[in-house]
Amino acid sequence: MERVAILGAGASGLSSAALLRERGYDVTVFEAADRVGGLARSFEWHGFHCDIAPHRLFTHDQEALDYLLRLVPMHKHRRRSTIFIAGKKVHDPVNPVDLILRLPARVSSQLVKDYLFKPKLPEDSFENLALNKFGKGLYDLFFEPYTRKMFGVSPAEISVEWGRQKLRTSGLRDVFRRNTKIFFRHFYYPEEGGYGAICQALHSKVEDRVELRARVTGLETSDGKVTAVHYDQDGDSRIFSCDRLVSTIPATVLGSMLGHDFSLRFQPVTLVYLLFDKPSVMPYHWIYFGDGDVVINRMAEFKNFARGSVPENRTVVVAEVTTPTDDPQGDVLEAFERYGLAQRGELLDSLLIHESFGYPVYDRHYELAVKEAREVFGALDNLHLVGRNAEFRHIEVDEDLASAMKLVRQLANDRA
Ligand SMILES: Cc1cc2nc3c(=O)[nH]c(=O)nc-3n(C[C@H](O)[C@H](O)[C@H](O)COP(=O)(O)OP(=O)(O)OC[C@H]3O[C@@H](n4cnc5c(N)ncnc54)[C@H](O)[C@@H]3O)c2cc1C
Repeated sequence: MERVAILGAGASGLSSAALLRERGYDVTVFEAADRVGGLARSFEWHGFHCDIAPHRLFTHDQEALDYLLRLVPMHKHRRRSTIFIAGKKVHDPVNPVDLILRLPARVSSQLVKDYLFKPKLPEDSFENLALNKFGKGLYDLFFEPYTRKMFGVSPAEISVEWGRQKLRTSGLRDVFRRNTKIFFRHFYYPEEGGYGAICQALHSKVEDRVELRARVTGLETSDGKVTAVHYDQDGDSRIFSCDRLVSTIPATVLGSMLGHDFSLRFQPVTLVYLLFDKPSVMPYHWIYFGDGDVVINRMAEFKNFARGSVPENRTVVVAEVTTPTDDPQGDVLEAFERYGLAQRGELLDSLLIHESFGYPVYDRHYELAVKEAREVFGALDNLHLVGRNAEFRHIEVDEDLASAMKLVRQLANDRA
């Protein structure tokens, strides 16, 4: 039986392990942490299941959706979200018509003017794409601060490709196109256990094959193949021989194991969890903060995702912070007070989690760096990359699963 080593027990590693095992492969998963789930894990805190920022399932991929709905019972939620910008609540995703109607006449007349006289710049950066599509007014009001907050650089440094995939807006025509990955009306969320229930269910299929606290430190290669994995576990250095390797760890980490330093950057994210002594903070699943002087990118309230029993008089929210700051909690509380969401005196407890590999940054050079990485990894013909940070793609759990499904199909075809 073919021995497959899988690096990482997040959604991608666990999906790959479960699917490969079903096809008769002998899988072993190596996970550095003492728990599974990676970025799609949940944890219990003060009676709430908390995720890493908000996580929700929306997909166009029927095969992935059917698999996930068979795996975990989920509720279908009607999306409730908004964006705070310039002291107003506006539609999420940003819609120019809605903005114009909601903002003060002085601001909106400028937005209309700029929208009507949009430039025609070469579409070679996210900045130019946004300027061409929405004009300078909307760019200055929303896109510039939002993108700088999200990635720590100006939109001029961000690839046009990211803009095309992830523009947090609907264009005028998109007002009628209600089912994009950005503009969806409904989403699925597990009935119990938070979003992490997905990874827990995958884990239950391969639990006996998952090595926890097993940090992979290097690979052995020979004749264009990976032959062994070196890892540290509980103070011991160990070696595992394999016939095939599936990596779901960040491309940069795998690259350095093979002696390469790819110029790919990940945006870290700090999650600030706050327990408040009140039944509710907001009626939304999540809120985006568009203003550049607020460190929060997005916040979510877990009570609004849960359908099971949760404490009635208390609530937990998470604020996702991508702006560098020495005092994330202080800055988040200041923003909450400014927007009338909660007061410092209502805070009962707090928790900070830092994730170093939050978002692959699609800067203007990333396509070249990804190409270089693909060539290096492609030279090892039994090495496969699956998932968001391994493939350096801004994707979600359904697409991580689809990538694992594609790999399993490809291996089956190779065998046939
Ligand atoms: C803020 C945020 C919001 C998101 N929102 C959504 C959403 O709404 N819906 C959705 O479906 N998805 C969402 N996603 C994306 C989703 O979280 C990811 O697509 C998914 O979790 C990626 O899984 P993965 O297994 O590829 O990677 P990871 O979750 O990063 O897992 C990789 C695993 O590898 C382990 N590892 C790393 N290095 C080593 C090593 N050397 N040795 C052994 N193990 C190692 C890590 O500990 C980790 O457990 C969001 C992501 C973020 C950051």
